[in-house]
Amino acid sequence: MSNNFSVARRLMVDQQLRLRGISDPLVIAAMLSVPRHLFVEEAFQSRAYSDAPLPIGSKQTISQPFMVAFMTAALELQGTEKVLEIGTGSGYQAAVLATIVDQVFTVERIPELARRARRILDLVGAACVNLQVSDGTFGWEEQRPFDAIMVTAGSPETPRHLLDQLKIGGRLVIPVGDQIDQVLKRYRRTDNATFTEETLLGCRFVPLIGRYGWPESDYS
Ligand code: SAM
Repeated sequence: MSNNFSVARRLMVDQQLRLRGISDPLVIAAMLSVPRHLFVEEAFQSRAYSDAPLPIGSKQTISQPFMVAFMTAALELQGTEKVLEIGTGSGYQAAVLATIVDQVFTVERIPELARRARRILDLVGAACVNLQVSDGTFGWEEQRPFDAIMVTAGSPETPRHLLDQLKIGGRLVIPVGDQIDQVLKRYRRTDNATFTEETLLGCRFVPLIGRYGWPESDYS
């Protein structure tokens, strides 16, 4: 069975990632090594390596493999960075990041998802991932600054706290738009007060809910 999953994982990397232009060797190696099937619900394990997001409970999703790889590549990691993820969900993206860098911090607002993610991260040997339950639109103030920040939920705008928690030269990747469709934006801090902004591609994420995201009452 685990052999079937590793074959499916290799096919996923070849057909969904390499053929669509993902070539960063650190990202490819991470996507080849993290057992995605352990992060999805048991009922969906046979579809863990399909080209789609999947439900993980609490009305949330694990992102499509291509989106995980694309966003990871967009952070331009070399392996020495301190990285913050907002939206732990299943923990899969955090595990991918932890394969590339030593310092991963991840924030989830739903305690049950955070507990489940913690258990799986420990199981797959990613115990070094630091996980906190809080409103990630505030970032993780005590741990700033970060070389790279990734938001894996869609926001109406880019929270200022996240930009402020970047090092000079740091990158923030975030889906920005309405509650259905967003564009993936990448910001780069060029000095204390200046950021460049690029639009990378269209995407569709569940909402970022919090003080500087969507109000909780909009999404019940
Ligand atoms: N990265 C995840 C993975 O690898 O499974 C998928 C993330 S899922 C698309 C979005 C997650 O963001 C959900 O788990 C949701 O609860 C979380 N979220 C939404 N708003 C948040 C906030 N303000 N702070 C932290 N997490 C938030």
